[in-house]
Amino acid sequence: MAELEFAFDDVPEPGQRTSVVDGIDWIRLPLPFRLNHVNCWWLDDGAGHAVQIDTGVASDTTRKHWSQVLGKVRPDTLLVTHFHPDHAGLAGEYAAAGVRLLSSEIEMNLCARIWHTEPDDYGALYAEWYRQNGIDESTALAVAQAGNSYRRIVVEPPRMSEFTWLDDGTEIELGGRRWQVMHGGGHAPAMLMLFCDVDRILIAADQVLPGISPNISAGPVSKEHDESFGLREPNPLARFLETLERLRSLPEDTLVLPSHGMPFRGLHMRIAELVAHHDDRLNRVREACVVPRTAADLFDVLFGKKLDAQQMSFALGESLAHAEHLRLEGRLDVDHSTACTRYLRR
Ligand SMILES: [Zn+2]
Repeated sequence: MAELEFAFDDVPEPGQRTSVVDGIDWIRLPLPFRLNHVNCWWLDDGAGHAVQIDTGVASDTTRKHWSQVLGKVRPDTLLVTHFHPDHAGLAGEYAAAGVRLLSSEIEMNLCARIWHTEPDDYGALYAEWYRQNGIDESTALAVAQAGNSYRRIVVEPPRMSEFTWLDDGTEIELGGRRWQVMHGGGHAPAMLMLFCDVDRILIAADQVLPGISPNISAGPVSKEHDESFGLREPNPLARFLETLERLRSLPEDTLVLPSHGMPFRGLHMRIAELVAHHDDRLNRVREACVVPRTAADLFDVLFGKKLDAQQMSFALGESLAHAEHLRLEGRLDVDHSTACTRYLRR
């Protein structure tokens, strides 16, 4: 296979759904970001039991789309792949409607912890993280004033006791198929993926996307908590690459259903492209650190374009994930002697 094979020429129209294979429909919801859509999946066993995968962000636009697609129908089960707003945004409303909830315990703990952070604390955490890593003071002040941005696009999360947890390696029957549950790392700490061996289908969440790399981000660490906010993991890029290695054991002709972009075949090729993409970024970071650099100094090297406020925290997390990976491998040193953290080639 020389190129990825896309299974469809067109995306589902707004408010419509497209049948991917028997028993799996594709629903595409708009997002109010530069990343302008998220794919959700609807699994139906043909005997009246339906499973919805992810919800979109909490907004009236999302609610309108779901009601156009489904009318008044609710799924029996909602599976939330990970804590990000475009996946978990409306989970609380499904819980209130009595829908059974499946997710990953680490992901939903993170969702609740972020959601319940007071706006001042949330803003202060991000502002301090920005300053520490060399972002200018006016941007740091703006993020401090923005408060808890997560809460604006996620409704109050369900209680932990309302979920059934899906552990890595377990098997589950959903929508008339048997699925192996896999946890992916790097983009989120324990993101759910589902693999059906018989039909060779991977519901990949954000782990393997066809057009872009998922954001691999080392998030801010709260001083009050001993765990990181965006990620508890000090080396998310290593976890991401390890998960890609695991996914290499799946067949090359697996139909991949990603949360962004088009369904495709060519899993091994896409994994190789993603590994090469991050290798290239690691090399660029290491080369740039011939003089001491903050994570913000690396934006030009990694992104080469002006970033808007919403891209800034993704960009900072991504820069840090690459710099920290190199540091933990012994290829960069870190200097904490000034107000900002700087990285320097060994
Ligand atoms: Zn995500």
